[in-house]
Amino acid sequence: MSSNTIIGIDLGTTHSLVGVVDSGFPILLADENGNRILPSIVHFPEKGDVLVGEPARRMAAVAPKRTFASIKRLVGRRFDEIPAEEKSKSPFEITRLNDGWAAISANGETLLPEDVSAKILAKLKVTAEYALEESITRAVITVPAYFNDAQRNATKRAGEIAGLTVERIINEPTAAALAYGLDKLDENARVAVYDFGGGTFDLSLLEMRDGVFQVVATAGDTHLGGDDIDDAVTDFIAEKLELGSDFTGEERTKILAAARTAKEQLSDTETAKILLPFFDGEHSFELEISRPEFEKIARPVIELTRTFCKRTTIEQGWIDESTGLDRVILVGGSTRIPLVRKLVAEWFGIEPDISQNPDEAIALGAAIQAGILCGRVQQVVLLDVTPLSLGIETFGGLMNVIIPRNTTIPAKAGELFTNAVGDQKSMLVRVLQGEREIAKDNWELGRIELDFEPGAKGSARVGVQFSIDENGILSVLTRDTNTGEDRVLEIENSAVDVDDEAVEAMISESVDYAFDDMNARIWTEAKLKSDELIPAVVQAISMAGDELSADELASIQSAVDEVKTAVADEAQDVAKLKAANKVLDEATEELAAILVEKAMLKALG
Ligand code: ADP
Ligand code: MG
Repeated sequence: MSSNTIIGIDLGTTHSLVGVVDSGFPILLADENGNRILPSIVHFPEKGDVLVGEPARRMAAVAPKRTFASIKRLVGRRFDEIPAEEKSKSPFEITRLNDGWAAISANGETLLPEDVSAKILAKLKVTAEYALEESITRAVITVPAYFNDAQRNATKRAGEIAGLTVERIINEPTAAALAYGLDKLDENARVAVYDFGGGTFDLSLLEMRDGVFQVVATAGDTHLGGDDIDDAVTDFIAEKLELGSDFTGEERTKILAAARTAKEQLSDTETAKILLPFFDGEHSFELEISRPEFEKIARPVIELTRTFCKRTTIEQGWIDESTGLDRVILVGGSTRIPLVRKLVAEWFGIEPDISQNPDEAIALGAAIQAGILCGRVQQVVLLDVTPLSLGIETFGGLMNVIIPRNTTIPAKAGELFTNAVGDQKSMLVRVLQGEREIAKDNWELGRIELDFEPGAKGSARVGVQFSIDENGILSVLTRDTNTGEDRVLEIENSAVDVDDEAVEAMISESVDYAFDDMNARIWTEAKLKSDELIPAVVQAISMAGDELSADELASIQSAVDEVKTAVADEAQDVAKLKAANKVLDEATEELAAILVEKAMLKALG
């Protein structure tokens, strides 16, 4: 079954990786042994299957003529373009085809460099198929920004030989910037990508133009990388062990491997042990190397990248505060070395972004680009939520929540309010944000003054509707339903765009004061009830007081007094007020019954 999945591939000089966007996340895929990093090495045995990766690496010392490393340096290049030194140093033979292209040969068969790259790509394809459990036919492949058309076309051909339709060839620094999330930077944002790998150093300057990154300059050295540091450390060890120059190629390979392990360890630790068991078949060596010792050895190699950084930024005029760089990102395994990070920060004058794994950034970016192409990265407005509750102040100074905190936006909600006292001419709608029970403890976002025809208590009908659009803009609509008159208040951004710290403070305050706030709310509600009861009782007595005995009148009066005392009590004893309200309520009920009876008698008589 064929699928629409597109994989992203970092086809590196020393290492290659494959990734994909799966269930919304860019991820790197591991082979059946759990490895996500594949050495870019291919071995052609005399008989049997071609070996790729770690098994091929192990053959490098044994069968150097049929084991191809760093083939990327030859892909899409003419024989005459390749420096003489590179040809002479190469462990395998580089030949010239009749049409001028560089070639190699294995087992008597002439091969193009892309035939070798194709083996690496085919292995990555299998890795992806194994991990995703589906057949894969489409890929995005990254290349250095300085690759010319011939090199890009040869890379594309390598993909096709491996059975992949190459949907796009993208620049490594651009992929890295994608992985670092820099595609969200503003127009004209300037980024330096410092890529220090195993055998190559690339510096690229990118500028955001019309929403996409353009590579505006590249510089670097295709023969400068972590391998050179390994060589320097190897020389240091040989000297320490007083080996002179009298050791075999096989012995040098052993030291080199130990040097590299120590180098990688020293990125995390202060010292590293170099172990060379049965070094010459007889003796074992052990020695320790400290980070300062290592830095002394590595520094000259790292310093070689300095000129490229300085010259390129100066040539672009990206040097001062206003025209300078906005970001520096680190790519390539060698940028894990602390001294590299320190020097890069010094040279560019800004701290490099180290939020991604430097040896994975390009592959992740390729995966993201592939995800965009196959529609797995959706261009949607991400759902936001209200960080704090939104509401209005109601009678008694309480907070009335209309849209609770953590509501997904866009959102719309409302309530209908009425006038709490008779003859009210207007109503003030105070729009509030916060988690506190008492209005004044929350933040006021705005207010609307609403006029209406004076009438009895409860005669007005005012609708209040809150709506927050996808941009987080809150509009408050008030409507006098008697007249149909609308008022709209727009509150820009404040509904969603609240400072995180302020939100934290508001929430923790609301927790701290939860008990007090609750009491205050209950007290206010009880007091509102008293405020309603007392005038009602006073009115009832004036209408039917003469129907009551002196005792009854006295007990009602004392109930009123109790309530008044409780309301006035500064201690705000909620229980006491509630009890007093209850007594008064019962007394009033009795009065109400008498009033009703009176009215009936009057009607009958
Ligand atoms: P490339 O892009 O050339 O394929 P990579 O980005 O994979 O290369 O980088 C490989 C280089 O990174 C090697 O020289 C390796 O030793 C070095 N490297 C990997 N991890 C570390 C580390 N933790 N500290 C220092 N160097 C490291
Ligand atoms: Mg690389």
